[in-house]
Amino acid sequence: MDDIELVERYGAHNYHPLPVVVAEAEGVWVRDTDGKRYMDMLSGYSALNFGHGHPRLLAAAKAQLDRVTLTSRAFYNDQLGPFCKQLAELTGMETVLPMNTGAEGVETAIKLSRRWGYDVKGIAPGRARIIACENNFHGRTTTVISFSTDPSARDGFGPFTPGFEVVPYGDLGALAAAIDDETAAFLVEPVQGEAGVVVPPPGYLKAARDLCAERNVLFVADEVQSGLGRTGRTFACELEGVQPDVYILGKALGGGIFPLSAVVSRWDIMSVIRPGEHGSTFGGNPLACAVGREVLSMLAEGEIQRRADQLGRRFLEALRAAPMAKVKEIRGVGLWAGVELLPGGPTTREVCEALAAEGILAKDTHETTVRFSPPLVITEDELDWGLERIAKVLA
Ligand code: PMP
Repeated sequence: MDDIELVERYGAHNYHPLPVVVAEAEGVWVRDTDGKRYMDMLSGYSALNFGHGHPRLLAAAKAQLDRVTLTSRAFYNDQLGPFCKQLAELTGMETVLPMNTGAEGVETAIKLSRRWGYDVKGIAPGRARIIACENNFHGRTTTVISFSTDPSARDGFGPFTPGFEVVPYGDLGALAAAIDDETAAFLVEPVQGEAGVVVPPPGYLKAARDLCAERNVLFVADEVQSGLGRTGRTFACELEGVQPDVYILGKALGGGIFPLSAVVSRWDIMSVIRPGEHGSTFGGNPLACAVGREVLSMLAEGEIQRRADQLGRRFLEALRAAPMAKVKEIRGVGLWAGVELLPGGPTTREVCEALAAEGILAKDTHETTVRFSPPLVITEDELDWGLERIAKVLA
């Protein structure tokens, strides 16, 4: 059997991947098992903001592999404290609870919000509600899909966790109307990634944040995909000068090397979860933290955000200027674009296959949109190479 047959015969892969089996990768480039080279324009759904095999991240991982990789959570490790300090400083927050995947980060933030709702806000036991948005994506666990509006994420997986309410994304009036005395938190993606790079109307995040402050509701920003440089800012919330009550981070935090997520907040919120009440075997392990520290050092330098901002403008302007007969709309911010196709033309799947034939890996989402999120270390020449091929396929 060849590599594709092997994975299709034995792997219970739960997506519809393009038939490309990656064997090697460096920077923005990956090579399949036949030696064909592709530009990675998806970069692990924004987990590889620093590209494949970044020398500083590899060095941090290799050094830590030779020291210590995992301790029991009954002990601290010497990477955990510095990691938490660096992340608190980058976010302007006070304290960090590390986990592994994005979905676990979201679960953690849900528990934190509910506990805060009872202990601090004084919501009656068992009554706390969290408001989320239509077309959200926050992960695949049973509680998180309970407030998904995507049938393919939910169907056949019930019964669902109660305690959530969904409002239209970008609609401040709907949010205001949904908030009551039992609302603990508003959980929002500052830019909806999986929905197809949906940027909310200008002013929405700021107004929603102010509304939450007025009504004593936690503003919880899921920046698992939008955070850590992707939008040209360290956090997408910064695009509107918003400081949330809680950040959920993941993906690129582990540098594409190791799963690492975190919930970041202030002590007056975080301290409602006491030692021993929440955690995970691998959460805050020294290997993940060592890589995370190097990621945070690079973000503190600011160069990657500047690149994402400058090259992102070039990318979106060029996409919008190119004659693209098959395209209905181009959305985006920073080095992050969602290209929505006109109905009746080629499917998004066909477009992704055509892009792959041209040497570009991208992914369709919701059968209407092709998403592009190249590594932020991409050069101008590489970006232009990619743009030329995208324009050709979509002409
Ligand atoms: N939140 C957001 C905004 C995401 O985009 C994702 C992943 N696409 C998640 C949470 C879940 O992350 P993970 O797949 O690491 O559980």
